[in-house]
Amino acid sequence: MPHKTGKKLVLVGGGHAHMQTLAAIGNFVRRGHSVTVVAPSPYHYYSGMGPGMLGGTYQPEDIRFATQQQVEKLGGTFVLGRVTRIDPVAGEVELADGGRIPYDVVSCNAGSQVPTSLPITAAEGEGVPIFTVKPIERLWEARQQLLALAIEGPPKVAVIGGGPSAVEIAGNTWRLLREAGHQRPCIRIFAGRKLMGRASEEVRRRVNASLARRHIEVVEPGRVQEIHDGRVVIEGRNNNCKADFIFLAQGIRPAPIFADSGLPVGPDGGLLVNEYLHCPGKSQIFGGGDCIYFEPQPLDKVGVYAVRQNPVLRHNLLAALEGGELRTFAPGGDYLLIYNLGDDTGVLQKRWLIFGGRLAFRIKDYIDRRFMRRFQQHA
Ligand SMILES: Cc1cc2nc3c(=O)[nH]c(=O)nc-3n(C[C@H](O)[C@H](O)[C@H](O)COP(=O)(O)OP(=O)(O)OC[C@H]3O[C@@H](n4cnc5c(N)ncnc54)[C@H](O)[C@@H]3O)c2cc1C
Repeated sequence: MPHKTGKKLVLVGGGHAHMQTLAAIGNFVRRGHSVTVVAPSPYHYYSGMGPGMLGGTYQPEDIRFATQQQVEKLGGTFVLGRVTRIDPVAGEVELADGGRIPYDVVSCNAGSQVPTSLPITAAEGEGVPIFTVKPIERLWEARQQLLALAIEGPPKVAVIGGGPSAVEIAGNTWRLLREAGHQRPCIRIFAGRKLMGRASEEVRRRVNASLARRHIEVVEPGRVQEIHDGRVVIEGRNNNCKADFIFLAQGIRPAPIFADSGLPVGPDGGLLVNEYLHCPGKSQIFGGGDCIYFEPQPLDKVGVYAVRQNPVLRHNLLAALEGGELRTFAPGGDYLLIYNLGDDTGVLQKRWLIFGGRLAFRIKDYIDRRFMRRFQQHA
């Protein structure tokens, strides 16, 4: 039944934490509310399968949700654009093109980005392609460029970063270059202090063994200081390494929208939210996924938490529109991690259970494809 006063819900980003809210747009609309989704692309790409798209295991359509199509089909409004600020006093979100959209309730799921603090300089005409691991959709462009480079000869690829995404990008670049005819691709990971430094010894051992078997070199310890004319310069070392293609995977930061708006933020710049995924003191602002800082306990920047936040966000947004009671978000216990190493193998970890090989990748592939099917069907 329609609610007595229809209100305006604005969703900033159609990411993983908004999946259930997007699927429920029809319900919001039937109750008399308007729903507007602002996103910089008509599609949302699933990061867990991004490295697999780079390597060629997946096509772009396998790993993306047709956000615009879904929103419009269910009766919402899709605005192609990038939110740069939220004005809680006026109750408006501001877009990069200067547009403003009024809201009664706004929910932020604008994700994260690779920080651009690393100094990168190039002499004129000396530009080497440099790709950050996010936005995920650009990994498809990276694939095309690498394939073109590989026709001329074996390119030297540098991956800057020491976490799981650096490992997955390096492993899948190896796959891509092998398929392009280079039997021994030249790939180096500049891992900072230590590769997979936050993982257990056993996971690290398995990942390193896989990389070593494929001659993917790991440079550690050594902090990358700058990239100059395609040369990766490491602090305190005289020699530097020339690369033909560079990936930046040195961690992620929440989107800068919130600090720029003067909203409460956590130490990482993410929108500060309480146990209701609600920004304290700002009664109409909610958020989920990588762009928030969860006040009760810091959460890892993994899709698992964004996915777990879905039902609470969907419920609380409707409750905020209609004056209902809010539900609390409980992050839950350990989660399953599976790394895609790019050669049809993976490493799986769930608490004490760790194993590697083809089965680990098959489990990841099954879970990821099932996740995609579940939410792609709404478009
Ligand atoms: C290479 C890689 C592999 C990963 N693999 C895994 C994995 O296997 N499992 C796992 O759990 N986690 C994985 N992660 C972590 C995972 O990416 C994040 O935790 C997850 O994407 C967070 O979801 P999100 O919806 O918050 O953000 P995102 O997935 O980044 O989505 C944010 C959305 O907001 C949109 N947006 C961005 N800026 C704006 C703006 N200004 N205005 C409006 N819209 C905007 C974007 O277009 C995007 O659609 C991986 C990360 C990377 C980089």
